[in-house]
Amino acid sequence: MTTDQTTVEKLIINGQGVEGHGEILDVINPATGESFARCHCGDAADIDAAVEGAHAAFESGVWRDAPIHERAKTLNRFADLLEANMEELYRLETLNNGRPITETKAQITRLPEWYRYNAALLLADRTSVVPMSGPYHSYTTRMPLGVVGILSSFNHPLMIASKSLAPALATGNSVVLKPSEQTPLTALVIGKLALEAGIPPGVLNVVPGLGPDAGARLVEHPLVKKAVFTGGTEPGRSIAVATARRFAKATLELGGKSPVVIFDDVPVDVSARGAAFGGFIGAGQTCIAGTRLIVQSTIYDEFVAQLAAQAEAIQIGDPARAETQLGPVISERARRRILDYVALGVQEGATVATGGEAAQVAGLNGFFVKPTVLSQVNNQMRVAREEIFGPVLVVIPFTDEDEAVQIANDSDFGLGSSIWTRDVARAHRVASRFEQGIVWVNDHHRLDPCSPWGGVRESGQGREGGWESFHDFTQVRSVTIRTSPNDVDWYAGVGQERLN
Ligand code: NAD
Repeated sequence: MTTDQTTVEKLIINGQGVEGHGEILDVINPATGESFARCHCGDAADIDAAVEGAHAAFESGVWRDAPIHERAKTLNRFADLLEANMEELYRLETLNNGRPITETKAQITRLPEWYRYNAALLLADRTSVVPMSGPYHSYTTRMPLGVVGILSSFNHPLMIASKSLAPALATGNSVVLKPSEQTPLTALVIGKLALEAGIPPGVLNVVPGLGPDAGARLVEHPLVKKAVFTGGTEPGRSIAVATARRFAKATLELGGKSPVVIFDDVPVDVSARGAAFGGFIGAGQTCIAGTRLIVQSTIYDEFVAQLAAQAEAIQIGDPARAETQLGPVISERARRRILDYVALGVQEGATVATGGEAAQVAGLNGFFVKPTVLSQVNNQMRVAREEIFGPVLVVIPFTDEDEAVQIANDSDFGLGSSIWTRDVARAHRVASRFEQGIVWVNDHHRLDPCSPWGGVRESGQGREGGWESFHDFTQVRSVTIRTSPNDVDWYAGVGQERLN
């Protein structure tokens, strides 16, 4: 893909590049604050065209009814093509979301695994024979849903799209992918590679567009049988309503305020390094960022000091450079919101242990924020309860295990979490009391295609990853066969046979 101002990237509908009816999007590099590419923007009418195309492809059976071995082979070919184009994907993803190239590589090098894993599930899936009583042989099969709408967020455009795209395609559905209007480019690249891999036209359509326009239409369209939304909790709530109204499925991957519980049996330098990794990766713009640090009071002061030192040592700079460890946040608006939260924390009584201001990077005019640690925080403050979505960590003290668990669970959110302890019994005990969708012990941020991912409470519903997600792109069909030698003759002797 060229990245200049003369080419305007097109939507992909029915295998064709088409112009959108919305106002052309200026694609911004958050490291410079400048536009580096332009992209067509779909509106509600473009979404209608994409959904109708996807529906027609589904009904034609060209993908849905293809032998599973063929579908698996095609997905593996797609994974090979992703691998072959990885350098281009690294470059574009980092240009567009500002994530340091080292992090981008660590994340999206693994992208092909999602397609290969779901291709493998397709071949490994089995159906059940159901032990129905009477002269019956009863079994289940699974059917794809139809058109699936995937709406992705800006922070990890390729990984987030792929987590659902891979199982949606493997199970035979057709897809309309609407990437974030802030980061539309890599989704268009994978749309093209999917065609090259042999995924038939219309099976994967890519329509960049604005959330309240194209996004809202996609989740409301009567032909869309499942919406997978990754984004903020408030839009997630309206999408839950829109899909429920017509009994469509919805997987909602929403916000978080992940607790990180740190016990004093872990050397403080180890837990401080772990907390810095959990909180500052992606400039804190990840849903599972470990932003609520709940630290045993015996080590509180030492921990804050070591975490602040860790934060100050992080190399802020041009995301394209291999040595950069922290890039910009996505926009000036996001930076303002983050710094307003820091000011709010101070008003609430927190202390800025480090950071708390914009960072200057020589030669770059982008949206950089210093990694920030707020201490003297309690769990009732807004900075401890609301998602800041930036490199801002709050540190809350606890005295014993019960209190740590109580604070960790006392949140509107319930997505990621981690426990740092050397006591293996305590690790299992605390994990079993955590009301969170994901728990890591002595680690954070680990994602795998086989591991279910998702939240509770206001962090959403449904799971991505594993069999759970794969099967959620299907509906179960029960098939029951009469095996009696006698034919049905109900009215000859009412009551002799079972009913219902
Ligand atoms: P966002 O909610 O602004 O946008 C996400 C996507 O939804 C975009 O494609 C956007 O165009 C679309 N959208 C926005 N409003 C919509 C509406 N009313 N109807 C339909 N579509 C709409 O989120 P963002 O700023 O791109 O991403 C940040 C948020 O995403 C954070 O809250 C973060 O926690 C969350 N997130 C969650 C997960 C997870 O797995 N739970 C992963 C990554 C990000």
